[in-house]
Amino acid sequence: MYMGICYLCEKEDRSYFGYYCEKCNKIKRLIHLYGLERVSEILECVLIRTKTQQTNKIKNQLEIEQETLKTSHDEHAEIMKKVLRSGKELK
Ligand SMILES: [Zn+2]
Repeated sequence: MYMGICYLCEKEDRSYFGYYCEKCNKIKRLIHLYGLERVSEILECVLIRTKTQQTNKIKNQLEIEQETLKTSHDEHAEIMKKVLRSGKELK
């Protein structure tokens, strides 16, 4: 049964329940777990900046993530478990 197109990416088919495809559902879960502010900031930093700015920003973001991992490894593992609960693994 055709469920229609995803309301967010407008590319993939919607999952059985809800308005979004599987990938966009994953993004939605990330927003719930990390907060819209943080996710939006990362996307802006990584995708919208120029190449040189990107390199620096990605490096900074990776350092922040590494720091987060160091300070709250268990918490992060818990979050990843929730994110991956759909059964699909991140590539
Ligand atoms: Zn989508």
